[in-house]
Amino acid sequence: MKTIGIIGGMSFESTITYYKLINEEIAKKLGGLNSAKIILHSVNFKEIEKYQSQNLWDESAKILSLCAKKLENAGADFIIIATNTMHKIYDDVQMQVKIPILHIATSTAKALQQANINQVGLIGTKYTMNENFYKEKLLDQGIKTLIPCQKDMQIVNEIIFDELCRGIFKESSKKTYLEIVDKLRQQGALGIILACTEIGLLIKQEDTQIPLFDTSILHALDAANQALS
Ligand code: GLU
Repeated sequence: MKTIGIIGGMSFESTITYYKLINEEIAKKLGGLNSAKIILHSVNFKEIEKYQSQNLWDESAKILSLCAKKLENAGADFIIIATNTMHKIYDDVQMQVKIPILHIATSTAKALQQANINQVGLIGTKYTMNENFYKEKLLDQGIKTLIPCQKDMQIVNEIIFDELCRGIFKESSKKTYLEIVDKLRQQGALGIILACTEIGLLIKQEDTQIPLFDTSILHALDAANQALS
């Protein structure tokens, strides 16, 4: 079994999901007392969020690159960065290590292709929704994305940073998210990417008819399967 290096803590709420799901998948596949070989490097999210909001992506790239090097030196066979947003600097981090970094949008695109879905709604941080680094990666795989209107994007983003990343899960925010999801469905989305690793902690498949693609689940399961390949 390969050792998975996780760069986590962005936020720690969703790193818990990753840790649990990867271990559960390995246990399911191998049975008995089997569990995953994981090295976790968890950052201080306040520093990362500060650089995001100040548009200082090079500074956060330095932090994540250092994490990646430490994981490589500690014996990780491959790495996952447990957040969508920080894939904006994926190339910078990957350049600093020899071991592969499993891109979250690649894991997500695989699931969409298996479901035969080529047009999806995407909700995540304002960086992931507005900028091209994530949407282009999906388009490379033939998947078109629809994003909410500016006002809704602002609401989605605020709920992520003010509530979900702080472990606050409100019924009112769930309702708001489901309304935004439904607007995307009406615009022609055939599925919805939960392109922020905390959104799956608030809304679940049983809350809506439209297929949800939860990036934290898809990334974690892909990592577990890579560890066994
Ligand atoms: N975990 C979130 C994501 O998947 C947001 C936190 C961050 O800005 O990294 O994008």
